[in-house]
Amino acid sequence: MPRNMTRAAIADFFQRLSVHMPAPKTELDYTSPYTLLVAVTLSAQATDVGVNKATRRLFPVADTPEKMVRLGEKRLGEYIRTIGLWRNKAKNVIALSQILLDVHDGEVPGTRDELEKLPGVGRKTANVVCNVAFGQPTIAVDTHIFRVSNRTGLARGKDVVKVEERLEKVTPAEYLQHAHHWLILHGRYVCKARTPECWRCEVADLCLFTPKTPEGGFPKKKNPVRKSKRTLRSKPPLKSARK
Ligand code: SF4
Repeated sequence: MPRNMTRAAIADFFQRLSVHMPAPKTELDYTSPYTLLVAVTLSAQATDVGVNKATRRLFPVADTPEKMVRLGEKRLGEYIRTIGLWRNKAKNVIALSQILLDVHDGEVPGTRDELEKLPGVGRKTANVVCNVAFGQPTIAVDTHIFRVSNRTGLARGKDVVKVEERLEKVTPAEYLQHAHHWLILHGRYVCKARTPECWRCEVADLCLFTPKTPEGGFPKKKNPVRKSKRTLRSKPPLKSARK
């Protein structure tokens, strides 16, 4: 049975990440809860850079539910066709915009339950919107957070909901608001999937993953991370990875 990090180590872990990144932010461009909701919906299985490239042209034309519905699915598709699954995403964005107009007076609701009722909005998207737009201490577990949590022993779990519940339980209250961004950025830039950069990691002595990657990396054929099980470097199970 793999060990879990102690509460004291977890507090230290977040304290160090908070010093390193005092004001972490989403890397998606947005100007309002609505544009954030659209950007996060578009970002499923796509990069933030790719989404920003598309929304840089889209949002000046359609940054409210009214304007988006007026734009229509076909023309929206022309702005986002560089993003994976764009046809489905265009359909969902138009449908959710219409529901915002019909049910929520054109506003984005501020609860996870209401957000999850919108087309194309899963638990993760709802958690991101609650956290970033409404300042709620939610943790949206994406592929990076899932990997970092399991790999380090911070919060192990076989699916994203288990990891999310455990993270909410073990993360000290003062770090809950930004935990989501710290873990994403740590996973994206340091604790990378194929080769975690342990030699320059500020939490290496707290992390339970072994063996740690030395500076310069392991010899290719002997890379233990590449050979390791899926929880060490893989994506969360598909059924619960929906944004
Ligand atoms: S020591 Fe390595 S495995 Fe552990 S958190 Fe840092 S980069 Fe990730």
